[in-house]
Amino acid sequence: MASFEFTTEEQAFRARVRDWLERNVPRTPRPISGPETREFDLAWQRAKQSGGFGGISWPVEYGGSGLTLVEQAIWYEEAAYARAPGVGMLSPALGHAGPTIIARGTEEQKRFHLPKILNGDVVWCQGFSEPNAGSDLANLRTAAAIEGDHLVINGQKIWTSHAQWADYQEMLVRTDASGPRHKGITWLIVDMKTPGITVRPIRTMSGDDHYCEVFYENVRVPLGNVVGEINDGWRVAMGTLTSERNASAARNLGEVVVIADELVELARTRTSADGRPLIEDGDIAQRLATLKAQAAACRSMSYVAISNGMKGMEIGSEVAFTYLYFGELLQRLREAAIDMLGSDSLVLEGEAEKWTRSFLADRMYVIAGGSAEIRRNIIADRILGLPKSN
Ligand SMILES: Cc1cc2nc3c(=O)[nH]c(=O)nc-3n(C[C@H](O)[C@H](O)[C@H](O)COP(=O)(O)OP(=O)(O)OC[C@H]3O[C@@H](n4cnc5c(N)ncnc54)[C@H](O)[C@@H]3O)c2cc1C
Repeated sequence: MASFEFTTEEQAFRARVRDWLERNVPRTPRPISGPETREFDLAWQRAKQSGGFGGISWPVEYGGSGLTLVEQAIWYEEAAYARAPGVGMLSPALGHAGPTIIARGTEEQKRFHLPKILNGDVVWCQGFSEPNAGSDLANLRTAAAIEGDHLVINGQKIWTSHAQWADYQEMLVRTDASGPRHKGITWLIVDMKTPGITVRPIRTMSGDDHYCEVFYENVRVPLGNVVGEINDGWRVAMGTLTSERNASAARNLGEVVVIADELVELARTRTSADGRPLIEDGDIAQRLATLKAQAAACRSMSYVAISNGMKGMEIGSEVAFTYLYFGELLQRLREAAIDMLGSDSLVLEGEAEKWTRSFLADRMYVIAGGSAEIRRNIIADRILGLPKSN
């Protein structure tokens, strides 16, 4: 039976976070796009680090606070309630590149990269997906050949978020095409200023251009940038993806609660054709009550997954479940807003702008980091023990 009690230390930490956020949340909103988003995200990371919240669960020797994943989750929850900015384009660095280096990097890699991330000096991107290797990541073809003490990379990545603003990339390359697919992959740190890298942004339906195609032509990367062993990158990457999902579970738990509350507010202030607040419509009230209950369930499930992870339980599959639930709940919350806004949601201005932009942008939560269908496959396979599909 799961328990939702927080320890005295965790409660004290929550109070400290709340107090700090009250005094430090930036008053200006995050810019929507452009280089100023990079400066905004780095400045917020620097502020968090100077307050002691830049790397809550990261080791103290590399600039972190050495606390637990529950405390990290408490931070995200309180940050959502305080309407603080998210991690923005620092998501790969803080959510999975950094944790992968902590788990599998050499001492030299840790000392060089981890403080730079926490101090808000650098942006990282993730070069995993390719045109024919998304859900089927092991199909990746971008090749890296060993030449002396370097790897020479040729190929292409796609959907690389924030590549145009990134200093470093966590990258998967094919170092052996002769054996089983999962055994010939290597996890690499790539300096984005290396000659031979071309970044081409892709504009999406939400008006964003932070996803990119990245092309590599004879890009030379020192062998010292390999994390883990050559050809053992699949195992390293599974750790990266688990960290990515854990970070998402932690970040999401407060967000859905806040959005559900904002929806109720929207229903109180908007009126129907007869001039009455939408919340007085029984169907709308019932829909909102269901969404609020689902948001509370999402929060609880995320805490259970995180605390199970701390007890050493394998949480990759459990996080697939919470992340799936979160991603689909977010779609329902956004759709409810669009339904309430009606035709106003078609124009990107005024009250509707925020909701419409989020409705479009948040479709990503059932694709990025593993699509909803792939998460269902993981649940079927690893939680329910159903026979594998072909
Ligand atoms: C907002 C966003 C940001 C991203 N950022 C990055 C990034 O920074 N770095 C990076 O490397 N990648 C990134 N990605 C890519 C992301 O990881 C892939 O889009 C995702 O893994 C799906 O791969 P795909 O797009 O190639 O779709 P495909 O794998 O081609 O899938 C297409 C459809 O088929 C379904 N499908 C595929 N295989 C199966 C199966 N076995 N069973 C059932 N259904 C299946 C999928 O669910 C999906 O609906 C990002 C994606 C998005 C949307």
